[in-house]
Amino acid sequence: MTFALECPDRPTIPIAGSDDLFPVNRIFCVGRNYAAHAREMGHDPDREPPFFFLKPADTLLSGSSCMMAYPPRTADLHHEVELVVALQSGGRDIPVVDALSHVFGAAVGLDLTRRDLQGIAKKAGRPWDLGKGFDGSALSGPIQRVSDGVSLTSGTISLLVNGTARQKGDLAMMIWSVAETIAELSTYLTLKPGDLLYTGTPEGVAALAEGDRLEARIDGLPGLDVVISGSV
Ligand code: MN
Repeated sequence: MTFALECPDRPTIPIAGSDDLFPVNRIFCVGRNYAAHAREMGHDPDREPPFFFLKPADTLLSGSSCMMAYPPRTADLHHEVELVVALQSGGRDIPVVDALSHVFGAAVGLDLTRRDLQGIAKKAGRPWDLGKGFDGSALSGPIQRVSDGVSLTSGTISLLVNGTARQKGDLAMMIWSVAETIAELSTYLTLKPGDLLYTGTPEGVAALAEGDRLEARIDGLPGLDVVISGSV
């Protein structure tokens, strides 16, 4: 018999143009997938292939407009605007040529990071988990279905903070394409329906403050607006 716990429901993301919700399984993230961001973090993108980390699924906040509380235990909360890819099916050892058939849709998202905690962990050779995974650290705008038209290979990706441009790039600047990333990740574990992939951020990552208003955009996808509210 299963012991009855009051577990939270699986997090969801609204699907653009419908009342349907996409149920989220796991959240995978790619590190240093744009050359200029790898350089600004002090690494040589030519010698370091992108790598993966995870956030707990219930760190997700989704919608066109979100309120995110400034998190505890940090004085250096950073924004990373990213293309989010949502999988409708999965598998292991997925060939690159088949990878995009597993994609349900895409959204613009933010991989928020407690950069100070991440830096301490890196220096000590310890896990990054608490620098990357905290309440509201994975933000996603509504998912646009592939069948409604989504480009995963080109298009402007940008972030405005309080109306000023902070990050700007193009999906074409990714070191590993979405298809290559799905194929590579599927050699480590079995990908599943509902898995999300945050595909890395272009250069321009910087600190946020309480009261900041963020506008994350990718050409052709629904926008994501976020307000950083006071700490809780
Ligand atoms: Mn990131």
